[in-house]
Amino acid sequence: MLKNLVDDELVARGVVVDTSICEHFPYTRQDLYHMAQVSEVKSFDDMLSAHGVGRGCDICKPAIGSIMASLWNEHILDSKHVGLQDTNDTFMANMQKDGTYSVVPRVAGGEITPQKLIVLGSVAQKYGLYTKITGGQRVDLFGARLNELPDIWRELVEAGFETGHAYGKSLRTVKSCVGSSWCRYGVQDSVAMAIRLEERYKGLRSPHKLKSAVSGCTRECAEAQSKDFGIIATENGWNLYVCGNGGIKPRHGDLFATDLDDATLIKYIDRFLMFYIRTADRLQRTSTWMDNLDGGIDYLREVVIEDKLSLAAELEAQMAHIVQTYVCEWKATLEDPKKLQRFRQFVNSDEPDSGVVFVQERQQIRPARPEERLHLVAVGD
Ligand code: SF4
Repeated sequence: MLKNLVDDELVARGVVVDTSICEHFPYTRQDLYHMAQVSEVKSFDDMLSAHGVGRGCDICKPAIGSIMASLWNEHILDSKHVGLQDTNDTFMANMQKDGTYSVVPRVAGGEITPQKLIVLGSVAQKYGLYTKITGGQRVDLFGARLNELPDIWRELVEAGFETGHAYGKSLRTVKSCVGSSWCRYGVQDSVAMAIRLEERYKGLRSPHKLKSAVSGCTRECAEAQSKDFGIIATENGWNLYVCGNGGIKPRHGDLFATDLDDATLIKYIDRFLMFYIRTADRLQRTSTWMDNLDGGIDYLREVVIEDKLSLAAELEAQMAHIVQTYVCEWKATLEDPKKLQRFRQFVNSDEPDSGVVFVQERQQIRPARPEERLHLVAVGD
């Protein structure tokens, strides 16, 4: 925000602002994306030697790591990519304030069988994890130590779970209400559509996280208008909203198209997402991207619906590639002993990290506060 503020002020004063992503690449993220695509660059090192200088930094490395993932969909822990990843991606889990991690398996559309719920409960009990229902309609398991992550995931994968990408700048969840199957007001099967969309876009890496929701009628119980792409059922099909956001600066999504059939809805979302991935700045949510898009929603309609740039087939083909090459990152990691070697707290010891201290609260664990730690050390606990 501060950078944008300063840049805007400089531009207003007539100063030319350098829009390069960082000192190592004299290009914008959009430039780098297209250069990588056209030249089929598949690693940061090749990108640096062809188009950059120096060794890279914590700005260009994750940005190019994200571009590589969006374009080629290779495993983020492959040796040529792992050094580019942000903290959470590095271990495919979300690091918490005490250095432990949380684990979030995918629960597409928020629909889960009793048997899978039991598995989550059993795994949480076995490893002593704190459990919390998330805003994205899934279950977050907190308090896992780094070395426990593979064991926890082995049990989850064997039970049919996949990674939920809660750690990635990628599709998170597609929430849904119960829709026409159960609700007296529902006009379409919102759960089935949410599952279909989440299964289609899972693993899609993007400039920032992506959230979605599907509501079964205009009462909007799934809050679809606050999502990057949100769908609301109508009696004739689906209304599509784009570029909504909760978070620090809430924004209602713009109504993009109305009364779409299933195939057209998915075709438009494919094109919309890929166009965003191609053209957004690093760490730019769809809402900010829309606010900065010349021509705004009308221009986006021209690109996505009218195919003004003759890009539609290419955008769809690129999405098809991502869908076809999807693999669960955790399942693939469990099958690769080299990747598993990373999941150690210490390189020279198998002892657990004594710095991790939990206390009990409301029948579950939570990280000890500093004063509680001092007390526990004093009484020798
Ligand atoms: S959005 Fe409509 S269909 Fe969905 S739960 Fe609410 S009232 Fe029912």
